[in-house]
Amino acid sequence: MSLPLFNRVVEYADRTAIISAGIDYTYTDLLRDSKNTALLLLDGSKDLNEARVAFLFSSGYDYVRVQWAIWRAGGIAVPLCTTYPSAELEYFIADSRADIVVAEDALQEKVKPIATKMGLRYLSLSETASSNSTELADIRPGRRAMILYTSGTTGKPKGVVSSHQIIQAQIESLVKAWEWSSDDRIMQILPLHHIHGIINIACCALWSGALLDMLPKFDTDAVWQRLVDADLTLFMAVPTIYSRLAAAWDTAPAKTQHRWSNACKKLRLMISGSAALPVAMLERWEQISGHRLLERYGMTEIGMALSNPLHGERLAGHVGKPLPGVDVRLVDEDGNPLTEGTKEGEIQVRGPNVFMEYWQRPDETRQAFDSDWFKTGDVAEVTNNIYRILGRNSMDIIKTGGFKVSALEVEEVLRTHEVIRECAVVAVPDQEWGEIIAVAMVLEPDQKLDIDSLRNWGKTKLAPYKVPSRLLIVDTLPQNAMGKVIKPEIVKIFQADIDRGKIYSA
Ligand code: AMP
Repeated sequence: MSLPLFNRVVEYADRTAIISAGIDYTYTDLLRDSKNTALLLLDGSKDLNEARVAFLFSSGYDYVRVQWAIWRAGGIAVPLCTTYPSAELEYFIADSRADIVVAEDALQEKVKPIATKMGLRYLSLSETASSNSTELADIRPGRRAMILYTSGTTGKPKGVVSSHQIIQAQIESLVKAWEWSSDDRIMQILPLHHIHGIINIACCALWSGALLDMLPKFDTDAVWQRLVDADLTLFMAVPTIYSRLAAAWDTAPAKTQHRWSNACKKLRLMISGSAALPVAMLERWEQISGHRLLERYGMTEIGMALSNPLHGERLAGHVGKPLPGVDVRLVDEDGNPLTEGTKEGEIQVRGPNVFMEYWQRPDETRQAFDSDWFKTGDVAEVTNNIYRILGRNSMDIIKTGGFKVSALEVEEVLRTHEVIRECAVVAVPDQEWGEIIAVAMVLEPDQKLDIDSLRNWGKTKLAPYKVPSRLLIVDTLPQNAMGKVIKPEIVKIFQADIDRGKIYSA
């Protein structure tokens, strides 16, 4: 039995599925190439039986070919960030207990030694199959399909496990709400180790028989140019990307501005999510593009849960109503559903879109649920079934440029630096990034550290987006009577200095 995704696309056989590096690939190409890669992964066996396959590819045809190959071979896809330094990669590969590692050629030098050291099979796409078998695995939709790593309030990142069925529910809900069809054409510029690019863009497009126009990474000019050149219908991004596109528009000559604005007007829909969209940004983008951005809310563990309407009024500063098939409720601090008269509480989500488990972490999985309701940790208010996100119930989760980062994870790494005695990592509000990562620290006696050397060192240990970009050196960290660092005090210091125009950043 083949999975619904692969059965469906047969219908679109001759249509272009993907444009990547200037080449058009049809659905037939994708089915053939992913089958060949699946056979390479299977290496003569019939089914990978949920073996984890870690893969590192930038946005492009090979990413999708490998993702589909893993699924068709019966494996669990573990997409990893291409910019992770070796130390982080080792953690993700070990934590997922990957059996096979696949990477694009440009990353081979970094990735292959890690796989070899860990005694794992390293696969390059240029290899040819050693077996004559042409049989693919028979996959039930309830089987595990993907592990996405996400940061939480405790310890290291956790693997969020979804089955094929859950992924399908996440896709179908969005296809219905945003009326995807095979006539759609969408640009894909987001990193493909995160739910936004994987599900909302790539999977929804291919499920619909639409066209996925893949650029290898985000580059302001390249995106504007592609908006002009390609005949796109949809665009989805995080607020930081809209902010950077707007900044480029502001400094462009009037003629270019006109061309860029007209290019946006051809689209049928532009969507923002993965972090709060400032109302000023929504308004600015509307002036530039003529589009009122559709803001939605979701999370790695639940897919998408809330969305402004495709048709009808999109309320600024709000994330709309529950998506098709998704149940949403708010609960008070004791976990009780809100009663008449109260309207603010933690968002909890239930439905076929919710993940199965945190990989190999049964206790954390149990703690994340109240019966079948997943506890998001986000706080919202609701009026007439329209939700507005108010914040998070933990200061230790930072959202920067749409990426989720655990302050505790960053602190743990920083504490291994020889001159850092104590440190506290906080989020500081920022117009472009939503939040930026800042650190206050106490150094060992007579030691010095500046932001440049901290960042250079940090990038060898952590993905670049997790490394603090603001540094404050203090004699003592503010603490309460219990000796706990008072993070809001630290945020205030950074905020006051930013307000005064004092810069600590690189
Ligand atoms: P991730 O799992 O990386 O997608 O991060 C999910 C988190 O991003 C959510 O729990 C929210 O804190 C935040 N988030 C996503 N969409 C929005 C939004 N539209 N407004 C505010 N926060 C959002």
